[in-house]
Amino acid sequence: MLTRRNFLKTAALAAVGSGLAIDKLFAVSKVYPLTGNMNRNLQDKMQIAGKEAPALFNINKSGLNVGRLQMTFFPYELKLRHVFTVATNSRTTTPDVQVEITCDGITGYGEASMPPYLGESTESVMTFLRKVDLSPFNDPFQLEDILTYIDSLSVGDTAAKAAVDIALHDLVGKMLGAPWYKIWGFDPAKAPSTTFTIGIDTPDVVRQKTLECADRFNILKVKVGRDNDKEMISTIRSVTNLPIAVDANQGWTDKHYALDMIHWLKEQGVVMVEQPMSKTRPDDNAWITAHSPLPIFADESLQRLKDILPLKDAYTGINIKLMKCTGMREAHKMFTMARALGMKVMLGCMTETSCAVSAAAQLSPVVDFADLDGNLLISNDRFRGMEVVKGRITLPDRPGIGVVKL
Ligand SMILES: [Mg+2]
Repeated sequence: MLTRRNFLKTAALAAVGSGLAIDKLFAVSKVYPLTGNMNRNLQDKMQIAGKEAPALFNINKSGLNVGRLQMTFFPYELKLRHVFTVATNSRTTTPDVQVEITCDGITGYGEASMPPYLGESTESVMTFLRKVDLSPFNDPFQLEDILTYIDSLSVGDTAAKAAVDIALHDLVGKMLGAPWYKIWGFDPAKAPSTTFTIGIDTPDVVRQKTLECADRFNILKVKVGRDNDKEMISTIRSVTNLPIAVDANQGWTDKHYALDMIHWLKEQGVVMVEQPMSKTRPDDNAWITAHSPLPIFADESLQRLKDILPLKDAYTGINIKLMKCTGMREAHKMFTMARALGMKVMLGCMTETSCAVSAAAQLSPVVDFADLDGNLLISNDRFRGMEVVKGRITLPDRPGIGVVKL
């Protein structure tokens, strides 16, 4: 049965998750009309009723001012387990900056990961974070105001902004004592399997890598868009029948060739295609989507919320990545908008620690595909969080983004 205390807590969780002001929600509920001091009003009412006031949350011990937000950050180079090759380069490390925001003795963790092709660097993130002044904000629950301020500091710097966003969400979730998937109202049992990427390599290496991961994952991901696409897929098919997601990374240059490839890929058990052609050729990508037997997802064609609407008829779905979209708050808005436009949604990531991957995973119960293997690719993770169990994303029942420091 929903007790009054649980009702209040549930209602407040819903308010934070949806962006509603808590005081407005409570005013509508007509349970306790709130002014500036929620706990004191509540305590007054309860004392009038002859009951001891419950501690609603472990926040607001002395009114709405919960104390100073203190942010610290430091560079942390991610070491990759294997050489990582994309169309343009190979590398063995990824620059990364770790962020911690503390309030009232509780610490939220965040992270910026900067693969070089996206234009941010350790220096740019450190420079951005030094500009951040959280002193005007003494209530971390004002996520909308704080993150609007963070976004206003520069035009780009999306990974740096995501680091602050993730740390604040972790902090607020810990203060509420609830994981974000629960605050958002998602069922963790519906979290999908994550894809696991088989890197481009010689047939012998591809066969070996596929054999090593085929019984740990339920869906594989393969980078295509090169001249050895059929060889890669056929090599994987020689050892497993697992479904395959492919990412062309804008690699195909002719729409008719791309469509022929997509038909062939469907016959090979491929279930979706990411970014077939260059983002500079929206008409060609839209033509492919219109004729494709497989769903086509935009990745390089978008970064943020404002980019989705023009893609409505050009792609079946969008790929949301925290490092590109400034974090969890905008990612949730992007999911909502994509669904409103009738589009599919997938979640992606960079090479990241379990911090950012677990933050993204909070959204995973409601997406069509998840590509959250970034933490599995590094050898110096700082956290334990979301785990892949029999190929499926398994969300921990811990507050915030659900990570513990190793
Ligand atoms: Mg992609």
